[in-house]
Amino acid sequence: MLRTTRNRSSRLGHILPEFMHARTAPLTPTTGHCIFCDLMHGAAEVSICYEDATAIAFLDIQPVNAGHVLVVPREHYETLQDIPKAVGLHLYQVATKLIPVVQTAAGATDMNIVVNSGAAAGQNVMHYHIHLIPRRVDDGFDVPLPFPGSQMPNRQQLDAMAARIGSMLRDPLRKDGMKL
Ligand code: 5GP
Ligand code: ZN
Repeated sequence: MLRTTRNRSSRLGHILPEFMHARTAPLTPTTGHCIFCDLMHGAAEVSICYEDATAIAFLDIQPVNAGHVLVVPREHYETLQDIPKAVGLHLYQVATKLIPVVQTAAGATDMNIVVNSGAAAGQNVMHYHIHLIPRRVDDGFDVPLPFPGSQMPNRQQLDAMAARIGSMLRDPLRKDGMKL
């Protein structure tokens, strides 16, 4: 199961000035500040493994396994629905580039690629990010799917949901999902 409780303070430190950027979107409303924006403003130590003009990737401070990387947009966007499409696509390009390298560097056999988008989905840091989690057999971590408590829908219910999604995808006025 994904960890949902975090309570840690960041170590003060220094990162390069080029990681500093202007914040253009609201910060996490509940706390009034964002730890990932703080990191990119140089407020704490961070171990960066990749960076470009749009994205940065650094090591998770409390990794599931060694090599647990977070791919993060430089600008503050809270959830998947807040991300401009071009930024979202770029983050997945960066993740795709990093995945085989991280897996090899970590000596892992497999990977979980995880996004917790929104508080109900277990997102604790409200600055959108993609987890790259190197996995090994018997490492004790789990994303339990299928969900043991779920009810199995019948075919009619599955077909109805598939049709609903397909219909919404074809709606030219659709406003949900990534920003265009
Ligand atoms: P979420 O639960 O939002 O999907 O994941 C947030 C992740 O950010 C967690 O895995 C947590 O360990 C990581 N994290 C929280 N604070 C810091 C920090 O100060 N530095 C780094 N590098 N990672 C952090
Ligand atoms: Zn932020």
